[in-house]
Amino acid sequence: MHDSTDNLDGDHMPHDDDPPRSDDGPRIDERFMSAALDLAQTAMDADEVPVGAVVVRGGRVIGRGFNQRQTLHDPTAHAEMLAITAAAESVGDWRLDDCTLYVTLEPCAMCAGAIVLARIRRLVYGATDPKAGACASLYTIPTDPRLNHQVQVTCGILEAPCSAILKEFFARQRALGKK
Ligand SMILES: [Zn+2]
Repeated sequence: MHDSTDNLDGDHMPHDDDPPRSDDGPRIDERFMSAALDLAQTAMDADEVPVGAVVVRGGRVIGRGFNQRQTLHDPTAHAEMLAITAAAESVGDWRLDDCTLYVTLEPCAMCAGAIVLARIRRLVYGATDPKAGACASLYTIPTDPRLNHQVQVTCGILEAPCSAILKEFFARQRALGKK
């Protein structure tokens, strides 16, 4: 029996032009982004802007969140904030320095700030947000060297479905004359 790295599908073969890999690896990133997308769908089903987030530690989801701004009547009830609060509660510590946060949309200034404050090690997001994104689009809060903590950032994981669900939501809102 051979190890699966010997197989011929080429999937595991490294190429010179591959982007540098984090220890977590692109497949793991896709798996957890899928979990975040499921939460975005939960938000969609509740008529909320469909954004979902999970916090992962040691290969396990320890916090989940989806946008609940309307439901909770709370402007801070973004997916990332709820996932961070749940994760901190589950570990019993505000420091999440060995955690990765996966979110379907580029975090806003508030959430990017919370990610830095929680000392999250790594941020992975799907779609970019040119209108409010604070991780690359308008600001670069997680990687700002002036702050006392910097976050590794990976973007574009499952970008197409992360972006499609938002487009679908806003198209539906327009059709209903809500926006
Ligand atoms: Zn936010």
